[in-house]
Amino acid sequence: MNFKDYIRVIPDFPQPGIRFKDITTLLQNGDVYKEAIEQLKALVKDKEIDVIAGPEARGFVIGAPLAIALGVGFVPIRKSGKLPGETIKADYALEYGKDKLAMHSDAIKPGQKVLIADDLLATGGTIKTSVDLVKQLGGEVIGAAFLIELTYLDGRNKFEGIDVVSLVQY
Ligand code: 5GP
Repeated sequence: MNFKDYIRVIPDFPQPGIRFKDITTLLQNGDVYKEAIEQLKALVKDKEIDVIAGPEARGFVIGAPLAIALGVGFVPIRKSGKLPGETIKADYALEYGKDKLAMHSDAIKPGQKVLIADDLLATGGTIKTSVDLVKQLGGEVIGAAFLIELTYLDGRNKFEGIDVVSLVQY
């Protein structure tokens, strides 16, 4: 299956010069979405994973079904102010914009092995912040899985020692 056939590229969104990879056109096709999750599962199935953590919002769309497919739990990483319980926070910078990400303080137990999942790896800023959050709680990030990787931004080199896998590369 060529997943690129189902990913729509939208020029100049959300800012001029950015060619946004729109995955909604993939998600709306049930067979393709399911196949993408199955193939991501195959890429990480040999890893020992206790829990998957994914940043809002598209990290939920990939991370949660992948967690179900692997039979592990899912931890949401959200923008500051959205989670109802006690949280820990970390700063992050995007390809466009800047904010804080948060995770519930009790979401990950010390020593738990965590796979981070998101729709797309660009500069790696979002995932770096997600790794910081997991580490603050004593978790061990054992890998990161993406539907899409923008290889020309070299985001994966931000994560020495963390195995990065992706289904589609641009
Ligand atoms: P990074 O932090 O690696 O620079 O950017 C990745 C984050 O920004 C991901 O959470 C992803 O959802 C979002 N993102 C950045 N560019 C795109 C894009 O072209 N398409 C999609 N779907 N998400 C993007």
